[in-house]
Amino acid sequence: DLPYIYAITPTYTRPVQKAELIRLSQTFLHVRNFHWIVVEDSDRKTKLVENLLEHSGLEFTHLNVKTPDAWKLAPKDPNWLKPRGVLQRNLGLTWIRENLKKGANKGVLYFADDDNTYDLQIFEEMRGTKKVSVWPVGLVGKLRYESPIVVNGKVTGWHTYWMPERDFALDMAGFAINIELLFDKPLVQFEYEVKRGYQETTLLRGFVTKEELEPLADNCRKVLVWHTRTEKADLRNEEKLKKYGKPPSD
Ligand code: UDP
Ligand code: MN
Repeated sequence: DLPYIYAITPTYTRPVQKAELIRLSQTFLHVRNFHWIVVEDSDRKTKLVENLLEHSGLEFTHLNVKTPDAWKLAPKDPNWLKPRGVLQRNLGLTWIRENLKKGANKGVLYFADDDNTYDLQIFEEMRGTKKVSVWPVGLVGKLRYESPIVVNGKVTGWHTYWMPERDFALDMAGFAINIELLFDKPLVQFEYEVKRGYQETTLLRGFVTKEELEPLADNCRKVLVWHTRTEKADLRNEEKLKKYGKPPSD
């Protein structure tokens, strides 16, 4: 009766996608009682993701929902302009609410973006979350790390350069939620129409107060998750080699 970890990963088609998902899946294989909810940002499920999940050895759910064009970043847009993964994470929340039962299914929800780096220790720590647990995230906010500030075991504020006055000034990778809260507050989800940087705050306000947060990772003294970002693949030589025929497919 070890509580489950339900990890929601939004993902979208681009050259590095398979590498990202392989790296993630092979990390997750080391975690017991783990259920991976992969939500493709697309009109239909792709063969690539379907095959990868089928062969991953993981317990998984494969979903898809496309981000409307109006909310999609253009290639040259700065990434803060529009929130990413909103509908995909919400579909993951809906899946948990519709397919799991309060009491019968015990576990925590975690938003695991496909480009981050996860130390296995964070999964064992988050498993015991009573309401919402929090911890530092490395390489984010133009800092070595962002972190909850912990005084006497309680979160009192945020070590964050950008808008530390937010109720929950932390990254998507820096918290986990006991799924019981999803059933108790069935309407709480992400919204598009929130101020920039307020996605996490909007969601968490619906579930807890700052005083209730449970600091993990040695009272937030350790970084166990990194907001790594993958360089866009530069494929401009592909065209030039076309005459040699098709490369191996993936
Ligand atoms: N994502 C998505 N559709 C998009 C862009 C991103 O589903 O059009 C996913 C992406 O695969 C990742 C998450 O949303 O799991 C966050 O995106 P990204 O890592 O690009 O955001 P950042 O790290 O810049 O905040
Ligand atoms: Mn990212």
